[in-house]
Amino acid sequence: MQTVTVLGSTGSIGTSTLDVIARHPDRYRVHALTAHRSKERLFEQCLRHHPALAVLEDEQGAAWLRSRCRDAGLATEVVSGALALEEVSRAPEVQVVMAAIVGAAGLLPTLAAVKAGKRVLLANKEALVMSGALFMEAVEQHEAVLLPIDSEHNAIYQCLPRDHRGGLGRIGVSQLLLTASGGPFLGWRREELVRVTPEQACAHPNWRMGRKISVDSATLMNKGLELIEACWLFDTDPQQIQVVVHPQSVIHSMAAYRDGSVLAQLGNPDMRTPIAFGLSWPERIEAGVDRLDLFEVARLDFQAPDEAAFPCLRLARQAQAAGGTAPAVLNAANEVAVEAFLAGKLSFTGIDELVRDVLDDRAPQSAKELGTILEEDKRARALARDHLARWGGNR
Ligand code: NAD
Ligand code: MG
Repeated sequence: MQTVTVLGSTGSIGTSTLDVIARHPDRYRVHALTAHRSKERLFEQCLRHHPALAVLEDEQGAAWLRSRCRDAGLATEVVSGALALEEVSRAPEVQVVMAAIVGAAGLLPTLAAVKAGKRVLLANKEALVMSGALFMEAVEQHEAVLLPIDSEHNAIYQCLPRDHRGGLGRIGVSQLLLTASGGPFLGWRREELVRVTPEQACAHPNWRMGRKISVDSATLMNKGLELIEACWLFDTDPQQIQVVVHPQSVIHSMAAYRDGSVLAQLGNPDMRTPIAFGLSWPERIEAGVDRLDLFEVARLDFQAPDEAAFPCLRLARQAQAAGGTAPAVLNAANEVAVEAFLAGKLSFTGIDELVRDVLDDRAPQSAKELGTILEEDKRARALARDHLARWGGNR
C-alpha cells in the first residue's frame, strides 16, 4: 500500500490522478489533498477519498471546509497556508507526492517532497524550470525518485533504458524528439493572432487542461518550458532536442538512437496514462484509458514549428542558454503575462512581447541559492507589472 499526497488535487492533473487512484484502492491511499481556493471541489474530494489532511490557501476557506467535514463525520484535518503544503509533502507516512500545482507556487512544496526523498510525480514543470540545477542536485542528494508526468517527458522516459543517468551519449541516444500539438492556432499568421480571445486560446484541440497551460500551449511557451524541462530531466542540451509539431498528439515524444532506431511512445491523449505510469512504475496498472485505435487515427502528420509567429519557443531557448536565473525570470514574466491575457488586459501577442522585455531587463544571476531564485522571480513579476502599467492595455 502506497500513501499519496496530491498537491493541486482540484486541477486537471489532480482530478485525473484521483481517478487513477480510485481504480486501485488496494494499492493507493490518499494522505493529503490540497487546493488553492476551490473549497467546494476539495470538499467533494474529501468525501470520496477520505484524506487524513486537506489544505487550502487561506484560513477562511479552511474554516468553511473544516465545519463541512465535521458535519459529514469525516476525520479529515483541515489546515491552511503555504507551509502546510510543504508539511504534507514531506510527512513521513507519505511515499508518493503528485506535484500538480500550477506555476511557481508549486516550487517549495515540490522541493520539500524531493528533499524528503519521496517518489515525486512531476507535472509542475515550472518548478523544475525555475530551479533546475538545484532541483536535480536535491533529487540526487536525497535519493528521490523523480518521474516525469508531462506527457512528452513521460514518453521519452519510457523510450530510454531504465538507468539513463550519465547523459544520453552513454546510452546511445543521439536526439530527443519533443512533439507539440501546435495548439489551437496552428498555421495562423502573427497578424491573425493579435485579436484572439482567452476562450479561443483555452480551447485546445486535443487536451483538456487548466487555463494557464492551455494558453502556454497556444503560445508555444509550453513547448519552451518543456524544452528546458527536458534538458534537466535527461541531462542534455537544446541542440540535442528537436521540436516536432504533430497535430494528432498520438505520438507523445521520441528518442532517436545512434544506430538509426527511433523509439516512440503512442497513446490516446489522456493524462491518466503518464499518471498511472508514475504511480505504478516499474509495474503497469489499469488507467481507464481507451485503447488506441490506429484505424481511427488513420494518419500521423509532422511539421516544423513556426517560431516567427510564435516567438516564445525562441525566448525559452534564449533563457536556457543564458542560464542561471534566466529561466526563472522567463517563467515569472510568462505567468504575469498569461494572467493579464486571461483577464483581458493584454493581447495574445503581448504575451511574448512582455516576456521578451522582462528577459532583456534582467541579467541572469547565479541560481545556486534558492533565495536568489525566489528573489528574481519576485523582481521579474514586479518588472512585468511595471511594463503592463506603462502599456495601459494598449498591447
Ligand atoms: P489547473 O489549473 O487545472 O490546477 C492547478 C491546481 O493547483 C489546482 O488544484 C489549484 O487549486 C492549485 N493551485 C493553483 N494555484 C495555487 C497556489 N497559488 N497555491 C496552491 N495551489 C494552487 O492546472 P493543471 O492543468 O492541472 O496543471 C497543473 C500542472 O501540471 C501545471 O504545472 C501544468 O503545466 C502541468 N501539466 C498539466 C497537464 C494537463 O494536461 N493539465 C499536462 C502536462 C503538465
Ligand atoms: Mg506536455
